[in-house]
Amino acid sequence: MAATTIPVDPFDLVILGGTGDLARRKILPALYRRMCSGQLPPEARIIGAARADMNQKKFRDFVRKAITEFSTASPCGDEGIENFLKIIDYEQLDVFAEDGWKRLKKHLRKDVITAFYFSVGPSLFGEIARKLTKHKLTDDTTRIVVEKPFGRDLASAKALNAELTTCFDEHQIYRIDHYLGKETVQNLMAVRFGNALFEPLWNAQHVDHVQITVAEDLGVEGRGAYYDKSGAMRDMVQNHLMQLLCLTAMEPPAKYGADAVRDEKLKVIRALEPVPPGDYVRGQYLGEKPGDSYLDHVNNPDSTTESFIALKVNIANWRWAGTPFYLRTGKRLRARMSEIAVIFKDPPHSIFEGEFNRKGNVLIIRLQPDEGMTLRVTIKEPGPGGMRLMEVPLDMTFAEALGEQIAFLPDAYERLIMDVIRGDQTLFMRGDEVEAAWGWVDPIRAEWIKSGARPLPYDTGSSGPEDSLMLLHRDGRRWRKIKS
Ligand code: NAD
Repeated sequence: MAATTIPVDPFDLVILGGTGDLARRKILPALYRRMCSGQLPPEARIIGAARADMNQKKFRDFVRKAITEFSTASPCGDEGIENFLKIIDYEQLDVFAEDGWKRLKKHLRKDVITAFYFSVGPSLFGEIARKLTKHKLTDDTTRIVVEKPFGRDLASAKALNAELTTCFDEHQIYRIDHYLGKETVQNLMAVRFGNALFEPLWNAQHVDHVQITVAEDLGVEGRGAYYDKSGAMRDMVQNHLMQLLCLTAMEPPAKYGADAVRDEKLKVIRALEPVPPGDYVRGQYLGEKPGDSYLDHVNNPDSTTESFIALKVNIANWRWAGTPFYLRTGKRLRARMSEIAVIFKDPPHSIFEGEFNRKGNVLIIRLQPDEGMTLRVTIKEPGPGGMRLMEVPLDMTFAEALGEQIAFLPDAYERLIMDVIRGDQTLFMRGDEVEAAWGWVDPIRAEWIKSGARPLPYDTGSSGPEDSLMLLHRDGRRWRKIKS
């Protein structure tokens, strides 16, 4: 059984930076898959625009290659590809010149939804917004989509927001964090607010702590120059882990709608306490062989940028006071694994004293690999011989539970681009949310920059620096294992 698909309204989608890496690997294959699933109306048009000297035919060849290489899920065959190519057009354009914009305008129709995907470096965002307005390519129904990174700190995020909001209203701006488009992340909201079972226990009284892990087994190979200017805190924590934390910790919104959800997430960010130096650990991976360490990969022996960070985060509100959220993310770790684990408190009294080392329930929401959920519960060990207890996982791997249906589920970019066309901003970050996140991150970074402390070394294939394990051990807790 395939997932239900409701076609979107006719649209013109302009991909500015249409010949770039993101367009090739994510945006174009995502649009193709949506067409295969029947979600694109016949009147949809996709217009690539970039500096490259291409025409419609060359760009269509580029798109054909991209979707052949990067679209494995739900392909609709050669005929499908040819049909998709028919809706593709191209306009050569330099953002800073005037003539390309005039030509681009001729591609746009008046009676359909218009969206511009800014798939270019953030330094071009402001200029593109100004050019779109100056050449009258927009009206108040136009949508713009901007990619991460949204700023490097609070000041730059504010400047970027100011540039965009000079030309567009907030309701027209779609800031992508692709984590929010993941099936499991939305399932977190469904589990919390669609069941009566969890919400009464979802607080400091019943939850001992929460662990959020986004571990990668790969290093920064190939992206070293970019990454070394960013680091794990800015590249992962400020956006992806912050979003996971917000959805786990937020109050139930009055309804599932863009502003209601984002208001609640913003309240969580504003309630985050500053993190003192003893409550975070930064690391840099070592190589398995000479020339293979983080410092080698970024070609900067003096780099103090972290490829790993673990933090203990406290939320100062009634729901969470006293229940820490431990976050960690890093590269070259033991395995590629992302999960949110909610560790419940032990039962207040055990009638089985002496028989069993009591352990609380754990709800694990897995983002990768094998998206799904597990609830660890205590049961009786089967067989005669008295009352012995054991822990078992109540496992729901989506691939098993949903069978064929999972193969047709859209990936994050598919879902998010269709949300843009539908005009649904729920899974996009609002300007004030992004600024609040930077406002929390900046003082933590400022402190470590001032101290001059270097990140601690950790082995490739490990769980990060020893001190990050101590961050929990000293609280009488343990990280869950990083394993695939
Ligand atoms: P890229 O360098 O591969 O592509 C950039 C595109 O912008 C090209 O099509 C280029 O022709 C166009 N361009 C550059 N200057 C231009 C100008 N003056 N006028 C017209 N076109 C111009 O970059 P990318 O990797 O595709 O990244 C695009 C954006 O997406 C960046 O903001 C990046 O941070 C973000 N992003 C990329 C990825 C990824 O996987 N590549 C992931 C997340 C976010």
